[in-house]
Amino acid sequence: MYKISLITGDGIGPELSESVIKVLETVNDKLNLRLEIEKLEAGDKALAKTGKALPEPTLHAVKRSDACLKAPVGESAADVIVVLRRMLNLYANIRPAKSYPNMPALKDNIDLVIARENTEDLYTGMEFEIGSTAVALRTISEQASKRIAKYAFLIAIQRDLKRKVTCVHKSNVMRKTDGLFSRVCSEVAREFPKIEFEQMYVDACAMNLIRQPESFDVIVTTNLFGDILSDEAAQVVGGLGMAPAANIGESFALFEPVHGAAFDIAGKQAANPSSFILSAKMMFEWLGMKNKDQKCFEVAKKLESAVYGVVKDGIKTKDIGGDKTTAEFTQYVISNIS
Ligand code: ATP
Repeated sequence: MYKISLITGDGIGPELSESVIKVLETVNDKLNLRLEIEKLEAGDKALAKTGKALPEPTLHAVKRSDACLKAPVGESAADVIVVLRRMLNLYANIRPAKSYPNMPALKDNIDLVIARENTEDLYTGMEFEIGSTAVALRTISEQASKRIAKYAFLIAIQRDLKRKVTCVHKSNVMRKTDGLFSRVCSEVAREFPKIEFEQMYVDACAMNLIRQPESFDVIVTTNLFGDILSDEAAQVVGGLGMAPAANIGESFALFEPVHGAAFDIAGKQAANPSSFILSAKMMFEWLGMKNKDQKCFEVAKKLESAVYGVVKDGIKTKDIGGDKTTAEFTQYVISNIS
């Protein structure tokens, strides 16, 4: 039995959560994997209600669970997810960009993963003003760079596709911070002689993600660059509605869509729940790995093939060129889980 904490979020978060709950209930009923789901509040609504974007009871419940699913939150995102990532030491943000059939994609047959360092860079909140100048401090440490680099190489081995890691930075400008990141990644690369290693400036990477996205396997990069490049990569394969993510630490992990709360479509049943369902798929893979539980791997596979099958049949939400509502799309996915 696995305890899953579920932060329902803001904007399209509650609709996506409803969809994922139905999927998890189906996993409970049809696939015999016992899951206990605890719904939790965090984000703008929680802030208005309790004065805190990340209320203590939510934090405690997340810590008590085996894994957390987090729907997007609104304006208070930095006070929720950035805090959770740092408090729970979820150092690896893993963002796959994978082609599914019938997508409004720039290119097909893409299967790449961005391994984004998740705890430092410009996300530590160290900003201040000196007179009329605002300053942000960028921290890149050897320890954090090393562990994300190692993680990236392990993913390349596990995927066993192109067996290649691309280290992305801007060390020609940020000589100290990105200089360190680049140096540490190349040192780690020497421990993995069977994996091809290359370095690329972030501007060149942004261009190559459009020009030849099929050339990438695993991209390892710093926090802010990873955030930007993963939105771009998601768009190349069909859009944010299909983009899941994992935040992974030593003993805990949190799974969430790449996108934000998308207030423009909130409450309209227009959200694509695939991003959150595929995040749940990543959660089952992680649970399977952590607990050596084959059943979890099977569930992960079934969730992905359920989504794959539905879009292959041309059943899609509006963002990817279809006309199905969030609830209708979810129902098709559920019927495809066997
Ligand atoms: P943030 O600034 O935190 O990234 P945002 O709301 O400004 O959040 P996103 O939610 O990341 O921006 O996404 C941009 C746009 O992409 C949304 O406004 C929405 O139109 C579309 N979008 C994002 N996610 C989905 C989804 N799951 N289904 C359909 N459309 C989506």
